[in-house]
Amino acid sequence: MISLLSTAMAKSVEIPLIVEISENARKKVGDVLEKLKVSSAIMITGRRSYEVAGKKIEEKISDFVSDKFFVEESKIDVAKNVIVSIGYSDVDGVVGVGGGKVLDVAKVVASELKVPFVSVPTAPSHDGIASPVASFRENGKAVSILVDPPTAVLADLTILRHSPIRLLRSGYGDLISNVVAVKDWKLAKDKVGEDFNEVAASMAIMPANLMLASDKSLRENLEMLVRGLILSGVAIAIAGSSRPASGSEHKFSHALDILGYGNGTHGEQVALGTIIMEYLHEKHYGEGDWVLVKESLERVQAPTMAKEIGLTKEQVLEALVFAKNIRKKRYTILEDVNPSKDEFELVLRKTGVA
Ligand SMILES: [Zn+2]
Repeated sequence: MISLLSTAMAKSVEIPLIVEISENARKKVGDVLEKLKVSSAIMITGRRSYEVAGKKIEEKISDFVSDKFFVEESKIDVAKNVIVSIGYSDVDGVVGVGGGKVLDVAKVVASELKVPFVSVPTAPSHDGIASPVASFRENGKAVSILVDPPTAVLADLTILRHSPIRLLRSGYGDLISNVVAVKDWKLAKDKVGEDFNEVAASMAIMPANLMLASDKSLRENLEMLVRGLILSGVAIAIAGSSRPASGSEHKFSHALDILGYGNGTHGEQVALGTIIMEYLHEKHYGEGDWVLVKESLERVQAPTMAKEIGLTKEQVLEALVFAKNIRKKRYTILEDVNPSKDEFELVLRKTGVA
């Protein structure tokens, strides 16, 4: 990681030292480990990720890898168990090959051991690829903790291109949600004087706007999507919080998680939230374009209606009202406008979400 000292806030910022986005990035793991002076790494992967990519990577870096762990659940205990299993052996690096769950566990393990973490994502499904945030499910609740970001991100387009289209659409949803997250952040700056970082905000919003303006298919835009998700993660690292990539639309998604409603992925849920919150920003402040957001989601065939991810109108309304109670200190359009249930119902009707 590179440590930058931010003079304004007098804190150090850790961002990935090496980022490669290419058709053959998976073949660079050995070079990167060598560069980072890692000689005894553990590999953390998932069963499917191992078959798809991990096995071949392992063969190439067998000289550097001392042990391997399979992760199927995103729980903090899984990370703890890995650390306990390592015991007092001299592990000096972590290689993670997998989707969100695997990379979140690997991030925590590497942070705890204070060793470099080389991340090889197998799905571009959310902005956790390069971020310092690890998300877990504990007793049905979503928990996010701030850890060190990956030291190196090797985004292999050949692997990522073959991930299920639903995960690409989810990544798209998580990326474009930044347009609302950054508007919420600006609102917090104007209304309650919250610290605002222009660099982090720009890094989060520029790739989102590029994607919204593009008329290419998701597979054609894969590289742009991956780059955008990585930049979002770095924006989070620079801001020192998920602020640039998580506002009211994420509160809505967290509410759905807590209530246990629907069967949407993280990105699908925040995408619906983005349509709704963009509408509120446009209505109350004349900023935003909810039609553009909705049409772009339709273009990539991501869900724009609640029923597409197993949600009834009543459940969406309940989640929207509930969302106002989540992370109240994070000021967003929800805290600002405090919409009534009736107003939410009108928004759902006008946007066609439910
Ligand atoms: Zn997200």
